[in-house]
Amino acid sequence: MRITAAVVESKGAPFALQELELGELRDDEVLVEVAASGICHTDLICRDQWYPVPLPAVLGHEGAGVVRAVGAAVAAVAPGDRVAMSYDSCGACPTCARGLGAYCHSFFEHNFGASRPADGSSAYSRDGDPVHAHFFGQSSFATHSVARERNVVKLDDAIPLEVAAPFGCGIQTGAGSILNVLRPEPGATVAVFGAGAVGLAAMLAARIAGCARVVAVDVRPSRLELARELGATHAVDASREDPVEAIRTLGGADASLEATGSPAALRAAVDCLVPTGVCGVVGAPAFGVEVSLDVNTILTGGRVVRGIVEGESVPQEFLPRLVELWRRGEFPVERFMASYDFDEIDRAAHDAESGAVVKPVLRMV
Ligand SMILES: [Zn+2]
Ligand SMILES: [Zn+2]
Repeated sequence: MRITAAVVESKGAPFALQELELGELRDDEVLVEVAASGICHTDLICRDQWYPVPLPAVLGHEGAGVVRAVGAAVAAVAPGDRVAMSYDSCGACPTCARGLGAYCHSFFEHNFGASRPADGSSAYSRDGDPVHAHFFGQSSFATHSVARERNVVKLDDAIPLEVAAPFGCGIQTGAGSILNVLRPEPGATVAVFGAGAVGLAAMLAARIAGCARVVAVDVRPSRLELARELGATHAVDASREDPVEAIRTLGGADASLEATGSPAALRAAVDCLVPTGVCGVVGAPAFGVEVSLDVNTILTGGRVVRGIVEGESVPQEFLPRLVELWRRGEFPVERFMASYDFDEIDRAAHDAESGAVVKPVLRMV
């Protein structure tokens, strides 16, 4: 079948809408007619080749839509189901066997390989030549996605697909980091560095977890204002004051989340912790970026620094939980989303990069 997809031809090139041909589904694959897709920072750093995704490629990994066809072995969803798409994993390696698909041994091949990990093929082609796709098992910057049974999640009818789309990456990354990994006690203090989509979702989750103090750290006053509207109890402008001092004045952080990718912010996110505090790292810099930490800060306080991928969530369990929180009005993430038509994808990407918009969501239909 013919589909329309946004293709990135080369490093840093614009997203160009083109007609592609889609081949047959394999047994474990699911054809999704995409209704909406969020744009995530990861799409932009792959376009710019911070991560070596082969190009030309169809990116996009926060898609939601309606199942139109399923492979012979698919049982979890059927044509007509409304679904969100999330990250992909192998299902067979030691970490997948422990239910931790976010740390799949083949995570890179399944999400950044931009081809079917089994044999390097692509269901997508242009004039007979294969085009790299299957990005995060979905390549959702398209009217149709070939996903896998493993990375689709059936959605409650209550949530619009446009709101649900970013749940599959950015929203679950922020919320899952708090609710699945850092798990602050009621009354705790959590500091979140970076008030983008991931950071704001984390702040909302910290309030849901009953934290007494949720400290938003950013360098943009408008983002800090938004963070306060969404439940941050304190806002620290790191361009004007030292966030470590500011957080220590509040008694220090029991947990912190670094969602900017900046080594200086990571250093501060560790230094602001109380003894035994945990710093979760979700902000991605380019490959090879290093950070310096004071060894004795880690050692003498028993502090922990740990990476977190996709909020360590099992999407089929965690997304319905987030949708229920959204339905109850406790998780109003649509407050920081903005809609764009599919053909406005470059403007949407630009608005995300300039900071004008927190989470652009493309509408395909
Ligand atoms: Zn695996
Ligand atoms: Zn993402």
